[in-house]
Formats: sequence, C-alpha cells, structure tokens
Amino acid sequence: MEKIVTIASMALFTAASSSCADEPQTAPWIVDRFDDIKVIRYEVPGFAELPLDEKELVYYLAEAAKCGRDILYDQNCKYNLPVRRTLETVYENYAGDRECAEWKALEKYLKKVWFANGIHHHYSNDKFVPEFTEGYLLDVIETIPEERFGELNTLRREVCTAIFDPEVCPKRLDQTAGVDMIAASGSNYYEGVTQAEAEKFYADMADPRDPEPVSYGLNSKLVKQADGTIAERVWRVGGMYSPAIERIVYWLEKAAEVAKEPQKTTIAHLITYYKTGDLREFDRYNIHWVKDTLSNVDFVNGFIEDYGDPLGRKASWEANVNFMDREACRRTEIISENAQWFEDHSPVAPEYRKKQVKGVSAKVITVAMLGGDCYPSTPIGINLPNADWIRKEYGSKSVTIDNITYAYKQAALGNGFLEEFMLRPEDRARIEQYGKLGDDLHTDLHECLGHGSGQLAPGVKGGELKSYGSTLEEARADLFALYYLGDPKLVELGVVPSMDVAKAQYANYIMNGLMTQLARIEPGKNVEEAHMRNRKLIAEWCFERGKDDRVIEWVEEAGKTYVVVNDFDRLRTLFGRMLREVQRIKSEGDYEAGAALVEQYGVQVDPELHREVRERYDALGIEPYGGFVNPEFELVEQDGRVADVKIVYPCDYTQQMLGYSRDYSFLPNVN
Ligand code: ZN
Repeated sequence: MEKIVTIASMALFTAASSSCADEPQTAPWIVDRFDDIKVIRYEVPGFAELPLDEKELVYYLAEAAKCGRDILYDQNCKYNLPVRRTLETVYENYAGDRECAEWKALEKYLKKVWFANGIHHHYSNDKFVPEFTEGYLLDVIETIPEERFGELNTLRREVCTAIFDPEVCPKRLDQTAGVDMIAASGSNYYEGVTQAEAEKFYADMADPRDPEPVSYGLNSKLVKQADGTIAERVWRVGGMYSPAIERIVYWLEKAAEVAKEPQKTTIAHLITYYKTGDLREFDRYNIHWVKDTLSNVDFVNGFIEDYGDPLGRKASWEANVNFMDREACRRTEIISENAQWFEDHSPVAPEYRKKQVKGVSAKVITVAMLGGDCYPSTPIGINLPNADWIRKEYGSKSVTIDNITYAYKQAALGNGFLEEFMLRPEDRARIEQYGKLGDDLHTDLHECLGHGSGQLAPGVKGGELKSYGSTLEEARADLFALYYLGDPKLVELGVVPSMDVAKAQYANYIMNGLMTQLARIEPGKNVEEAHMRNRKLIAEWCFERGKDDRVIEWVEEAGKTYVVVNDFDRLRTLFGRMLREVQRIKSEGDYEAGAALVEQYGVQVDPELHREVRERYDALGIEPYGGFVNPEFELVEQDGRVADVKIVYPCDYTQQMLGYSRDYSFLPNVN
C-alpha cells in the first residue's frame, strides 16, 4: 500500500527550535494528545549508517513525499484547504485571549483537522463537531488585519458552512445501500454527476476482454461540464493538482539521479506517469517496482488506495520512504531457513507433518518519512500493488514497518495498562524488556511457518471445518508460534537472548486471551472475531487442562481480578499438546471435535468479568487512535557537494503541521 519519500526543508529544520534532536532517546514518545488522538514520534534506527548515496536518495524521496499533502486535503473534501488555511491564519495571528475555553476548543479543532487531513474523522468519517461557535470564530477573525487572509476573505461563507452546518458534508464517505453514495459522501472525487452516471461512464470505458485492465478512473476527478457532458479531470502535470505534482516530479527527478538500476528505471516510469497521467504507464511502474526486491531504499508515492471513494475507484494520494531493517530481516531469514527443522520437531503426529516445507520470506522495513494518506495515521504493513492482474503475474511486496510498531509500543509504556492488569512485577519487567521482541517473533513464526505447516490426511480437502475453520486455523498458527517461542532452539539460532522472551510472551498472551481482550467487546456480546476466539480458545483450554497443577491461576487482590502463569514449562507442554490436537482436527477434517472445542472455550463471555475489565480499561483513559510526527532531514554540503544527510526528531506536532503548510503547500484554495 504505499511508498514515498522525503526530507524536511532546511527552513523547517532550522525553525524547529522545539526539536528534541539532542536527546532522542530520552524525549517522550507521545508528543501531543487531544480528543481521541495521541501523536507519537518515531525514530529511524540505521539511517546514520546508510551509505551516502542511499541517504541522499532517502532525502529526495522524502521531499517528494511531503509535496502532495494538499492533494489529499482537497480529495477528502473541497472545503478542506480553505478551512485549514483560515484556521491556521487565525492560529498564527490572533493576539487575544488564548487561554479561554473557546480558544482551546478552536485549537483542538485545528489539531483534529491536521490529523484527519480535513474536517472529517480519519476513521469514522463523521464530520467533526466544533466546540466553539461561529460567532466566536468571526469575532476572532475581526481582530486580525484583513490582508492576512488574502483570497480566503472571499471564501468566509463556505468555510463557516463547512465547519458549522451539520447538513453540509456530514460524512466524508457514505456507502449506505440504496442512497446515491456520491451525493451522500463529502469527498471530492465527483462533481455534478450522479452515482448512476458515474457507474455508466466507467462501465462504458472498461474492456472486459482485456487481460491486463488498467485501473480506470484511479487518477482523476469525474465532472459534469457546462455542456452537460461528463469528463475526467486527470491528476497530472498540466492537469488537476498540477502545481503539487510538479514539485513531486522535481524531487523524483533528483532521486532518479542518485538511484541505481533497476530503481532508476522504476522512478523514471513514475515520473512519466505523473507527467502524462497514462494509467498503462502506472502499471509499468508497478511491475518494475514489485520486481525490485533488492534495492535497500524503497518508496511508495502516488494515487494508491481507493477506500476514500464511495465507488472504490479513485485513489487518495499517499507516500512513504523506507529502507530494509537488516537485523529484523535476518531474523525472518533464519526462521525461514530452519523451517524444515521446526516442522520435523513439532509435537504434531508424524503423519500430519509436512515432508517438504517452503519457508515464506517477509521483509521488515524502517520507515523514514510518511506522507499524504499515510500521515499522521499510518498502516503498519504494506502489501502492494493493488491491480489483481499484476499481483497474479508478478506477485506483490509484503512488508511490516518495524520502527512504527516499536514507537507504538514505546508510547504505550507507562499508560498504566500493564500496572492495572498484570499482577506480578517480574512479569511486567519481562514484558517491558522483551515484549516487542516476543510479539515480533510470534508474528514471524505464526506467518512464516505456522500457517504453512502440517498436512491433510488423504481424502481430506480442507473446508470441512466450515465456520470454525478460520478460528482453528489461527489457533494452529498461534500454537505453533507459542510452542517454538519456548524452544531452546531459538537461543541456539541466536534470535532470542534467553527464555525470558517466551515467558514475557506467555504471560501476556494468557492475560489477553482470558481477560484484557474483553475490553474491545461491547457489553452483552460474546466473542465473534476469529483471532479473538482463537486467543480465548487457547488460553481457556490451557487453563482447564493445567488446573490441577495451577499452571495458570485466577487471583483476587484488593477487589480486582488478575490472571497469572505459575509454570511456564508446563504451559509450553500444554501448547504442544493442543497443537497436536488442533492439527489432528484440521488434518482429519473433524468438524464435530473442532466445533465442540471452539464453542466450549472460545465464545462465551463471563458477564461479571467483562464488566470489570471494561470499567478498569475505561478508567485508564487511553486514546484509541495514534499517529506520528515525521523526522526531519538536512543536507550537509561541503565544497558544493552533498557530504552527509542529518536526521533530527522534532517533537512539536503543531510546529510540524504549520511548517508543512508553509513550505509544502502548493495548491490554490479551489481546485
Ligand atoms: Zn494468521
């Protein structure tokens, strides 16, 4: 899903007086919090060690990643740019009372607009409800010299309506069946056309016999013109959004100069696509991009994901720049290389082990810049390209972003969650030290080996377990991972320093499965989602089977309920026994046994415990959504040549947003 690049401008860098660059290790991870949002900074380990040409490549790609920010604002809603700019002008110029409740509400609203790249919540799509009045905003504007607002003065009515009138663009995206989804959605992908007209326009365009269909409509707005005909306004140099796209192309051309083959050609295809708007060229770019698995620095930059278009056709602009995390890739390589050993030694019955295992490789990356629809809120994994025919012929790239998940973990430390739910200090200490490594390894083992392990009995086709199939499949992969996390082989292979990693993972897994995951379930509901059922199934089964020896135990203390693991070795043995049984169920297609297992252990919620967990979780006040501030990069020149690229970590969300609006804003108010 994405790629791109960047580097912060010198202006931004030098202006960042609030930068925590001197002490990135000790600066707080959460740099801002408002409403239901926390803003986190992320670090880019390994950047300083990159060769100079790769640092330079990151720099140019990072610049390109920042240049499309305005495009996304305009795509999300046509009022977003004038709203943002009006509020920023107010924010930077108002000399009155900045402590009163209404000002604080206005400031919070602006922070939310920056976070969502517009006036609608990034996740729920609902329009924000301002907690200040239109009268207050107009009064504040009155105190600021008119010329500061420039052209915005003529758009005051539209801006106020967009912010304050609940009838105008109430949702960014509305896919309710039966309504005209284009009319109901506040996004800016269509103008003057009905849903039926748009659907017909693209149905007429498609050639059903084309084995390599281009993604029609991906890079354009569809509009009804004055003469009543319908046409696309294409997002390209010379077309819609040209001023921003020209800047993107400028930096991509710089990037192409320092890139090596085959990446040089990949970037050249992207530039041609931006210049022509030709979607066949976009496909050529994607094919080059997906085939290049060796370049250390990689990127996403373009109109990529179509979630924001009610018809699922038009793509929002996004960007990401990254390089390989060699250390983490080494871990997945070691695991993949030893896949056969793990299979041969598994507790599964010999006839249900796979004779020939193929390890799956997964790339782990470090992100250096987020842009467009990946900023501030970002996916933690990427799987691209999206065109089905390219995926089928050329495959796709699947990566996980390690430094982002690390930052999330760091930000969660000290939020009180572990202290509230994990009783024993030694368990908390192990989780703080090894929790992330344990989680990462669990994911590696689950994805690279677990799902691919085992084989079916002759005559069994798969699918026999029906609606219980996905829960049991997740349980199989989790059990494989849990069992091997506690195997001394991992220490021998050098992927973990000690068995404490397994103990941290086991304590956390059992607590989550038996208790804390209930916080995400609505009152009165049972567990329905397959991954959650799987965790409950495993934890409850092991509790039950180890009951006599108190392997896992419920503890009451000071009126609160806790769950503790007393015997990690016995727990691992139980994981092995359960893996053997779940593999047998799958291999033999034993529906009765599978259904009984899931129904008995994976579904029913104890309402008393559920209520207690939700109350304790709510009391912690943890913001449900997170996003990021980007690092900044600076070119260091010596004798007229680039000698180095420096990285710093700003920790002021507002300053970064204002800086981007000052230095990377290229589009007019109305596009
Ligand atoms: Zn899975």
